Amino acid sequence: MHMSESNQHYDLIVIGGGPIGLSTAWQAARRGGRKVLVLERYGFMNERGGTSGAERHWRLQYTERDIFALTLEALPMWRELESLTGRKLLHEVGSLWFGDTEVETNEGQISGTARAMEALDVPYEWLTAAEIERRYGFTGLPSHYEGFLQRDGGAIDVRGTIGAVFQLSQQHGAVLRGNERVLAVDPDPAGVTVRTQERTYRADRVVLANGAHANDVLGAWGSPLSVGMYELPLVTLHQRRAEPGRPFWFAFQQPTEEDTNLFYGFPPNPWSTSDDIRLGPVFEVDALDHADDAKGVPAPRPVERVTDWAAAHMPWADPRPTELSTCLAMLPRNPARQFFLGDAGALVEGGENVVVSVAGWGFKFTPLWGKICADLALDGTTAYDISRHALTPAGQSGIVE
Ligand SMILES: Cc1cc2nc3c(=O)[nH]c(=O)nc-3n(C[C@H](O)[C@H](O)[C@H](O)COP(=O)(O)OP(=O)(O)OC[C@H]3O[C@@H](n4cnc5c(N)ncnc54)[C@H](O)[C@@H]3O)c2cc1C
Repeated sequence: MHMSESNQHYDLIVIGGGPIGLSTAWQAARRGGRKVLVLERYGFMNERGGTSGAERHWRLQYTERDIFALTLEALPMWRELESLTGRKLLHEVGSLWFGDTEVETNEGQISGTARAMEALDVPYEWLTAAEIERRYGFTGLPSHYEGFLQRDGGAIDVRGTIGAVFQLSQQHGAVLRGNERVLAVDPDPAGVTVRTQERTYRADRVVLANGAHANDVLGAWGSPLSVGMYELPLVTLHQRRAEPGRPFWFAFQQPTEEDTNLFYGFPPNPWSTSDDIRLGPVFEVDALDHADDAKGVPAPRPVERVTDWAAAHMPWADPRPTELSTCLAMLPRNPARQFFLGDAGALVEGGENVVVSVAGWGFKFTPLWGKICADLALDGTTAYDISRHALTPAGQSGIVE
């Protein structure tokens, strides 16, 4: 083997330097004795993919018990990340879910989630519409709305988290290479060939964590992941009245003819000096054919839907946006699976050498998904139950729906 060829050989190549890719690199490199490379198409901490914006919702509660169990596993791993980097990342402002308690959404269902919290002994407080209005200042909520506050939930500091996994993966010796785009991933029974714009690498294992672009590099396999891609608005508003104690909230409402009618919002970020607040819709409409079709600017109608909701129900907020941006959401078409997480052995020959972690509301799992990907890539197995998310050919999810 030529010197240059051996230099391009790694035990593990991670494709995509977002939070999940960097967390994987950290979890793999910290074991020691492994050559780990991360390839990122743009710069690290870019705002062009699924991780744009300053905050994400942290929650323990899930309707699905197996996923709920995973948030409980993720919590001590977040604490470890915080203590290793000396920065608070989870801010427990509370997680308030309210609305129509029976409506089924991609986020879950209120009544089923309350039952799951009972079963798992996770504390929560049940609230009526009147109590939610009195306590948190909402107005005009339909009187049948109900919900709960789960106090351990709240907001995750996105940029702090990416900085943490970037720093730790580098500290443990992972090679982080920005501005190098992967064009193709070709597995075989002995390993994986990774072709970029610049060169060709060889790895024993590959972890694919390139978010909305996953199907691009799997082109030779026939774009096997069945996903919907949506460019969702992030809407920033000024507060008329800043009051401490407001939680993250998610409004579960019956869909309209036009969209899924779901909205969420954060209080001001505790780690920021700004009093601004961020809101967004979770509408699965106007799917993009390709991630590169994202415009970076939201369509007017969903923004209007958000600001109308704020004008009707949030008297403490000025409904005129002060800033608009977008985030690229990539969701499995089969909502029951929630994520694609597992090796690609069922999809292509040699696919057992490629671990995939893409799609879904995954930020809350950053340290755990990194550990699971490192386990799968380096040990071929993991102790966590991720069977629901296993990669199966499109249309054969194996999930009871
Ligand atoms: C509006 C919105 C709200 C959300 N809310 C929540 C929430 O409240 N809670 C939660 O847990 N999750 C939430 N999510 C989901 C969460 O943000 C994502 O799951 C998570 O940020 C994805 O991280 P990632 O590392 O997998 O992917 P990304 O951050 O998308 O990173 C992928 C990286 O791969 C790079 N890349 C792409 N193609 C290539 C290539 N060919 N070669 C090399 N590199 C490549 C990209 O440049 C990018 O940096 C939300 C998402 C959106 C859009």
